[in-house]
Amino acid sequence: MPELSLKQFVPSEVCLKCDGCCRYKEADSAWRPKLGAGDKAGLADLITAGDVLDAQGYVKTIQSCGKHFCQFLNGGDNTCSIYTKRPFECSLYPFILAKTPDTVKVYAHLSCPYVQDHLPHVQFDAYVAYLKEFFHQADIREFLSRNKAMFHDYSLYAPELLYLFDLSLL
Ligand code: SF4
Repeated sequence: MPELSLKQFVPSEVCLKCDGCCRYKEADSAWRPKLGAGDKAGLADLITAGDVLDAQGYVKTIQSCGKHFCQFLNGGDNTCSIYTKRPFECSLYPFILAKTPDTVKVYAHLSCPYVQDHLPHVQFDAYVAYLKEFFHQADIREFLSRNKAMFHDYSLYAPELLYLFDLSLL
């Protein structure tokens, strides 16, 4: 994770009241966080000590009540037990980095209720402008270039996605 932290779009108090994230319908869901090599630093102790990632680099889940929960989710209060070290993708959500055959594109995930409530909205536009600046920073681009393994193909979810801009990374 780069030194420079990413400002959150969704306020924490809103996230903590929502049970949409961090749990998935399928065991192999594309929405599970995926770590690139350089994104593992904060979790190095856990990765060394335990069974944290699957062979593709996704955080493993725990099945319960017909869903697959991120192993770091505290289901009782929706908190993340590794919040300060969480994967970059978790910090970025409800914005995602989608791999296409020739580039990486930034989308907003329209399934997030907070996105639905703030679209169209001046706050949403301001955050997208902030994200563009964030991704232009040299250390962030270097981090992303070293972590292409965390990009995912979300083409199956196109109806849920709003295209924002191209990172021109590949
Ligand atoms: S690491 Fe934390 S924020 Fe990311 S999916 Fe798991 S519980 Fe959610």
